[in-house]
Amino acid sequence: TTASTSSPSGAAPLFVLAGPTAVGKGTVAAYIRQNYPKVWLSVSVTTRAPRPGEVDGVHYHFVGQAEFDRMAEQDELLEYAIVHGRASYGTPRRPVQDAIEAGRLPLLEIDLQGARQVRERMPDAFFVFLTPPSWDELVHRLIGRGTESAQEQAVRLETARAELAAQKEFDATIVNEDVGVAAAELVDLMERHASAARAT
Ligand code: 5GP
Repeated sequence: TTASTSSPSGAAPLFVLAGPTAVGKGTVAAYIRQNYPKVWLSVSVTTRAPRPGEVDGVHYHFVGQAEFDRMAEQDELLEYAIVHGRASYGTPRRPVQDAIEAGRLPLLEIDLQGARQVRERMPDAFFVFLTPPSWDELVHRLIGRGTESAQEQAVRLETARAELAAQKEFDATIVNEDVGVAAAELVDLMERHASAARAT
């Protein structure tokens, strides 16, 4: 009964999708980008090089370290972290605030370090943990992607092991068995939570 009712501000809650490395967060985010235009997906800045097929401004804003450091210093990032000890990633703050104020369904797909920073700064945000069907499946996905060196894969596995234990810090968990199903579950959860938040 409350789905079409807006709060006076019309503000939407912020949603954060995190989970262990290689669980498929990026794949779920990509699926949502293509199939659910009602979801506003944050575009992160990163210092890593684009992969084949990645478009600047769509998948990431690809920047140099100096520009990244400037953004961090001038408080233009809602959160930022060095991921896998290799490159810096951050969420531009202004677009997120605009999306919240516009009553969109704003979603961040970030790593666990970033999720913890967002929780400190925006305690009303809703945190969704994406988990693999099993550890074996996670290892398979990690190795199967084949875009990283053996040494990088080892770093990612170690990170994933620690990250799996973080599930208890989250508001909800979605098992990523099938990308389409996981994406549908996430969007459904976002819509229901946003409606409930607006009704209060
Ligand atoms: P990839 O380089 O494979 O695209 O992403 C590597 C990791 O960086 C993923 O775990 C992804 O969730 C994380 N990531 C992407 N954007 C951000 C961001 O803005 N902030 C943080 N903290 N992590 C991010």
